[in-house]
Amino acid sequence: TKPERPIAKTSDLKVSFEFFPPKSPDMEEQLWQTVRALEPFEPDFVSVTYGAGGTTREPTLSTVKRLIEDTPLATASHLTCVGATREEVQTVVEEFQAAGVRHFVALRGDPQGGVGTRYAPHPGGFANAADLVAGLRDMGDFEISVSAYPERHPESESDSVDLDMLKKKVDAGATRALTQFFFDNDIFERYLDRVRAAGITIPIVPGIMPIQNLTQLKRFASMCGATVPAVLDARFEGTEGDAMARAAVAADVAAEQIADLAQRGVNEFHIYTMNRAPLTIAMLERLGIKGRVARMSGAAA
Ligand code: FAD
Repeated sequence: TKPERPIAKTSDLKVSFEFFPPKSPDMEEQLWQTVRALEPFEPDFVSVTYGAGGTTREPTLSTVKRLIEDTPLATASHLTCVGATREEVQTVVEEFQAAGVRHFVALRGDPQGGVGTRYAPHPGGFANAADLVAGLRDMGDFEISVSAYPERHPESESDSVDLDMLKKKVDAGATRALTQFFFDNDIFERYLDRVRAAGITIPIVPGIMPIQNLTQLKRFASMCGATVPAVLDARFEGTEGDAMARAAVAADVAAEQIADLAQRGVNEFHIYTMNRAPLTIAMLERLGIKGRVARMSGAAA
């Protein structure tokens, strides 16, 4: 029999927002505008990615520091162990800890040759994400989130190998998993059933990617092993050259995905904001999730 999952009320949902460190002064300005615009939605936490796209720890550290110093937001830092010794990772952890970080999203990271090349652990480093989680547990009293892949990680040879890695990360001390984005909720629900059947009880928080640009998304999704259902082509058809229409469809699609997952009992969501606020806000408002100011003034959604 399937586990009972009571329907979650959409206005009571918990959300977290993911940002990436800006690479230019313009992008920096955009990020802080985004943070200010999303802050009133009182996310459970926000997170800042680490090391992806050739960046180093410095932009992540300075972004995380500013979030901690200038906002009331609970801030998590992503952390990877690719290409680093255990000592180097420990030094980074100490720096983030000194900046006030208490929550890490612990990841292995992509192979240094890029996605699609073979991963090799650093000879003096952590072997994989589970090993990193165990290391973090020894370094301090941190909240530790990890990744999960409803459609399996591209390097995993099977669903069960993929699930084994999640189990190892949980056994090592992870208390929450954030998923790779996906668009087919049936795939997520089947995955969740397998996760629970494997005895994993931590929250599995769906990663939601509001679609800023369908063509770019397809390219990115193919590298991550995420499928983009053909029905999305139909939804966006005719919106080429009409940014407002595209944004409206994108907000509808993301809100419908969340509302459907809430019907299936999911009440926490991790939003890939891509450092932009309007689409995320439009999506939240369609769900009846209001920012603090709107709630205080009793404004309608
Ligand atoms: P793991 O959990 O260790 O492994 C994922 C899967 O791959 C497992 O199922 C495992 O079985 C399989 N696998 C791992 N290694 C091997 C191997 N050698 N051979 C065969 N199978 C293998 N990347 C960044 O660089 N910075 C970030 O900030 C970042 N944030 C992310 C946030 C989320 C929520 C997610 C879902 C991903 C993020 N990534 C980030 C991407 C991530 O680093 C890559 O997907 C990476 O390839 C795997 O890291 P992981 O911790 O998910 O790996």
